[in-house]
Amino acid sequence: MDFADSPEQAVFRKEVESFFAKNFPDALTVGDSDDPFSEGGPVAPGARADAMKQWRAALVEKGWIAPAWPKEYGGANLSPMEQFILNETIAERSAPRVGVPDVGSTIMVHGTPEQKAEFLPPMVRGETRWCQGYSEPGSGSDLASLQTRAIRDGDDFVVNGQKIWTSGAHLANMIFMLVRTDPEAPKHRGITYLLSPMNVPGIEVRPLVQMSDARGFNETFFEDVRIPVKNAVGEINRGWYVGATHLDFERSSIGSAVGQRKMLDTLRNYLLKERDAKSGKTRLGQVDAPRLEFADRYIEATVAKTLSQRVISMQSRGLIPNYEASMTKVFATEFSQRIARTSTKLLGLYGGLRDRNSEYSPMKGRWATMYLSTVSSTIAGGTSEIQRNVIATRGLGLPRG
Ligand SMILES: Cc1cc2nc3c(=O)[nH]c(=O)nc-3n(C[C@H](O)[C@H](O)[C@H](O)COP(=O)(O)OP(=O)(O)OC[C@H]3O[C@@H](n4cnc5c(N)ncnc54)[C@H](O)[C@@H]3O)c2cc1C
Repeated sequence: MDFADSPEQAVFRKEVESFFAKNFPDALTVGDSDDPFSEGGPVAPGARADAMKQWRAALVEKGWIAPAWPKEYGGANLSPMEQFILNETIAERSAPRVGVPDVGSTIMVHGTPEQKAEFLPPMVRGETRWCQGYSEPGSGSDLASLQTRAIRDGDDFVVNGQKIWTSGAHLANMIFMLVRTDPEAPKHRGITYLLSPMNVPGIEVRPLVQMSDARGFNETFFEDVRIPVKNAVGEINRGWYVGATHLDFERSSIGSAVGQRKMLDTLRNYLLKERDAKSGKTRLGQVDAPRLEFADRYIEATVAKTLSQRVISMQSRGLIPNYEASMTKVFATEFSQRIARTSTKLLGLYGGLRDRNSEYSPMKGRWATMYLSTVSSTIAGGTSEIQRNVIATRGLGLPRG
């Protein structure tokens, strides 16, 4: 199998490289000796913020802030393979990911011209920050059982209920959500997809703190919240099918596959430099078992990339990946947990320390933090069990359990 670029792809890759050479700010470049996970090397926060603005502006001007979108909405209309090359380069350069939220693609497919004009340009300009209101305390994997009610009252829906695990709701100024508009209909058929600002009366956000101390998600409560009917995307009561739309230009996970390989490179370089005080050996030379485990992680990095390539090659041929995307998701997320386990093992007793400011925490405690934070990756976006069900039934034709 030849994975080399075609002549056209090689030309596009050169274009991406020269764009980076011209526009990617030095302040965001991560050097070998920097903390590779500090999102942009050791620069002062002010300098970093300025560099981020500059980088964002360059991406907006080129249309690469929303590479898959049509040009009239600020995109670049790139083909799946071109998006793949762009995402691969972004990951290889450890460039911060800046883009538009997935809800934009949903609005692009199902929205009215008025909704497109209202909601898409502020996404490109970076003025809106969205959160996703799907899950509820009693509805996760079985999402279609959701209970948050929206009752029509004139030109508005009045929404009451609760969402949970709403990532970034405490920072968001917009929400896209699924609500039940017809409780009598079969459960997939009585759901509507709504958009709302977060600063309207009746929305309350309560943070949930994760075991890694991160404050990423929230409980979101709705009490008599009025949302204009014109903010329903697609047909009323057909929101389930709207919510299932993913024109995700990052579905191949190539960014994460290349990023995971880079993490392993960084860890290897660190472990080769670090020497045991007594034996003078590098940590990678000391014990066989973790060393062999490390080799396994490298093999898996290659598998992860190949799975991503499969998804992207399907998209390039106009096919919609289904169980193939589930395979990529299961593998990439379980792989990130294995990387975290191997790394903390290789770092020995210090590997469990995660105080960024302690001189004893290897690489600023990044690996121990990763150990905790990757636990949720096999739950978010559909659990590994659900993905395996998809692979078993749709991929292998096995009967439902
Ligand atoms: C980091 C993170 C971020 C998230 N962000 C958001 C967000 O922004 N917005 C949002 O709406 N939601 C978000 N979620 C919620 C996420 O979508 C749900 O947690 C997920 O869908 C699982 O639902 P649940 O937690 O209710 O678990 P449940 O569905 O109750 O599942 C519990 C267990 O049972 C298993 N299980 C359930 N059904 C089956 C089945 N049919 N066959 C086999 N096993 C099954 C599951 O795999 C799991 O192990 C986030 C979750 C995480 C971890």
